Amino acid sequence: MAAPTPYPITDIHIHIQPWRQLKPAVAEVMRRGKEDHWQRLIALMDDPAALLEVMDRSGIQRVGLINYPSPDLMGFDDSTNDFAATYADAAPNRLLPFGGVHPRFSKDPAGDVDRLIDLGIRCLKIHPPHQLFPANAYTEGLDALGAIYRRAEERGLPVMVHTGTSVFPGARSKWGNPLELDDVAIDFPDLRILMAHGGRPFWMAQAFFVLRRHRNVHLELSGIPPAKVLEYFPRLEELADKAVWGTDWPSPGVKDMRQNIDQFLTLPLAEDVRRRILSDNSLRLFPTR
Ligand SMILES: [Zn+2]
Repeated sequence: MAAPTPYPITDIHIHIQPWRQLKPAVAEVMRRGKEDHWQRLIALMDDPAALLEVMDRSGIQRVGLINYPSPDLMGFDDSTNDFAATYADAAPNRLLPFGGVHPRFSKDPAGDVDRLIDLGIRCLKIHPPHQLFPANAYTEGLDALGAIYRRAEERGLPVMVHTGTSVFPGARSKWGNPLELDDVAIDFPDLRILMAHGGRPFWMAQAFFVLRRHRNVHLELSGIPPAKVLEYFPRLEELADKAVWGTDWPSPGVKDMRQNIDQFLTLPLAEDVRRRILSDNSLRLFPTR
């Protein structure tokens, strides 16, 4: 059992997904370095009770279950949304399902956003390097993307956008530039945006600019080695009200959800800043229902 913190921790970014849909080359990269416990991870994807046990052991109250369609690159089709919603039914207060609408494939983008909400999806995930368009592609003709943002804004559904690189086969890292969220924040001023990964490993200056400029853009810290968070964002304390904790577990390089928290807790940050990042900010964005 991990030492309890006096507040409930949310890890808003973990990959519980229908991994059986992964294309073979993608599965190969996912498997790398975890061959010895691969079967156990696969089993976790079928069994919310097993995940809840890991969370209990790790002192984690809530997790975000990242899912998004990427049929041509990753292999996930739209059923990934039903997967997330069904999985989360096991403990709706602790498992927050993410889902997506793919603007290059959807025939009814606004209606599909409504359907996500009907399913119980708590946050819409956009993954530019895996879905193959820049996050502001609606400014250059991808109208469906604008319709998705607009509907999410109207319905109060937060949107998480991947920023930074990706190493999966076929991923286009150039579309990980967080500066593209500047457009989105301007054009959809009431949309709550979570910027996943803060543009790591080399767009942190652009990320910090966008985060400071727009009140509705939040920093989501997953994928950044916790011991290096202050190297990546030396002025993190200025973002104390809009940074949320996440790990990206069990993606390549992320071994253990708790280990990341413990490393984060050793950083020289004020106690109230830690608390806001690990707990309060996520609770505000995703209240317990
Ligand atoms: Zn991720």
